[in-house]
Parts: sequence; C-alpha cells; structure tokens
Amino acid sequence: MKTLVSVAEMQVAAAGVRGAGRSIGLVPTMGALHEGHLSLVRRAQQECDVTVVSVFVNPAQFGPNEDYLNYPRDPEHDRGRLEREGVDFLFAPTVEEMYPPGFQSYVTVEQVAAPLEGEFRPGHFRGVATVVAKLFQAVQPHRAYFGQKDAQQCVVVQRMVRDLHLPVEIVVCPIVRETDGLAMSSRNAYLNAEERRAALVLYRALSGARERLQQGERDSASIAAEMRRLIEQEPSARIDYAAVVDAETLAPVERVTGRVLVALAVWIGRVRLIDNVVVEEHDGRVTSLL
Ligand code: AMP
Repeated sequence: MKTLVSVAEMQVAAAGVRGAGRSIGLVPTMGALHEGHLSLVRRAQQECDVTVVSVFVNPAQFGPNEDYLNYPRDPEHDRGRLEREGVDFLFAPTVEEMYPPGFQSYVTVEQVAAPLEGEFRPGHFRGVATVVAKLFQAVQPHRAYFGQKDAQQCVVVQRMVRDLHLPVEIVVCPIVRETDGLAMSSRNAYLNAEERRAALVLYRALSGARERLQQGERDSASIAAEMRRLIEQEPSARIDYAAVVDAETLAPVERVTGRVLVALAVWIGRVRLIDNVVVEEHDGRVTSLL
C-alpha cells in the first residue's frame, strides 16, 4: 500500500492509473476504521481495479461545539487494517494541505441538506460536500463508496454529483451492525458499558417502526410517536429527531407510500448516535431495504 499525503502526488498517481486504463474506487473516511468502513473497502475492491481509501478528519464538517478535537484518531491501526485488506493507496492529507491559508470556496447543497442532520448540525453538510468534492478532485475516482449509515450524506453527495456534473458513480452500501444490532460507528468508542447497553434503543425503535409498517401502519406521526415513546424510556437517551421522510427528497411524509427513510439521531449521555432504516411500500406491501 502506498501512503500519499499531498493532493498533487495523489493526482499524479490517479492520472497514472487512469492512463493505464484502470478504474479507481474511492472510500472516503475519517479513520478509526471498523468493519463498517471495511465493508465499503471490500465492495470497492470487487468493483474497481485500484482502491483508494482516504482518511481525513475534516474540520469543516464539525460545529464549534462538536467533537473535532476529541474525534477518535488511530493512524497506525488504520494503516495496518488497510494493508491487510490489500488496499492500493491510502490518501491521508493534513488539514493544511486540504485547507491552506486563504481557503474560501465551499460547496453548498440546499434543500436536501436542510432537515434532519442539517437542522441540528448547521454547516455540517457544507463541510461534507466541500471535502467530498475536493477528494474527488484529488483522487479522480470512477466510483465512490458511501455507507447507508449516513443516509442523508448519501443523498447530499448524490445531489451534488448530479448538480455539478461530477463524473463519479456513487455506490451506497448497507449498514454494518454489531451482533446485537447497534450500527457500527467510530463514536461507539466513546460509550461506557452502561451507555453501550442503552444505545441499543435506537435499533429497537427502528425495528419496532419497521414491524408496525409491515403490519400495515401507514401514519408517519404515529410511527414517529411510538419510536419517541420507546426511546424516552431510556433515561440516558435524548432525542434530536425521530423522523419518517421521503427517501429521496427527505421531506416529511404524512402517510407512508413508496420509499421512505425512518431516521433517528439520539444522544446517549454525551455521545450522539444516528441510525436509520429504509422501507419501500408497494401495492400495500412493505419491504425493508439495505
Ligand atoms: P466516517 O469515517 O464516519 O466518515 O465514515 C466513512 C464512511 O463509512 C461513510 O460513508 C459512512 O457512512 C460509512 N460507514 C460508517 N459506519 C458504517 C456502518 N456501520 N455501516 C456501513 N457504512 C458505514
């Protein structure tokens, strides 16, 4: 595995790969790699000739009171895991490389970035869209791999790619969970034993919502209310949102038809967790996707 830290050398390497007629798959991450990240890496390796994993904790997507400084970082562990996976390139630029003095150009996606995470993390998706656009410029991927875990991020990136004619195919990969259902996340490392147990309430609430949908419930408010009721029974839990929205536009839906995203953001103590499930209603039947 080759580790590259400058945009210029990454662009030269990418031009070499492309010049040889080979395809590039990019997996953007913020490191502290777990099996969720590695599932994206393996998918990229299956579908592309050369896999590039970027590790960059992007300050632009953290709010002033968020965990940028404390975000889990473990470069040696990450490098080892990626070596073992047989990744071709690790792209690990510094903050100064990505945001040199004078930097002032940002990408703003509008409507789909406004609700849910956008409401509770103002500026978050401006940071995400900007860094993803910059990573695409550095790595020149044919395909880029994202996790359904960050459902709104996938929608925002897909919108940006379409709107700005970026020649990249976005591949969305299923959520990888611990055996008890907790969605894998770098932030799970912050949970103590009691919080780790309490964190299961997200998965229980989503599973309950999916069951009610499968039993014929179509009223979004009632599904959201039941999720809230369940989560509020957990003393350490505090809800940012429990929402049922159109899976494409992310606009609220009154009644469930077509494809909907059931999404949660919940604080467990001082740790903010997100999770979701996508369901598809068709001819009165509901199937769960991803
Ligand atoms: P992050 O390092 O948190 O920015 O995540 C990097 C990529 O990995 C994003 O596309 C995430 O959606 C994806 N990812 C994180 N956790 C999971 C998971 N449990 N299952 C699938 N993908 C994930």
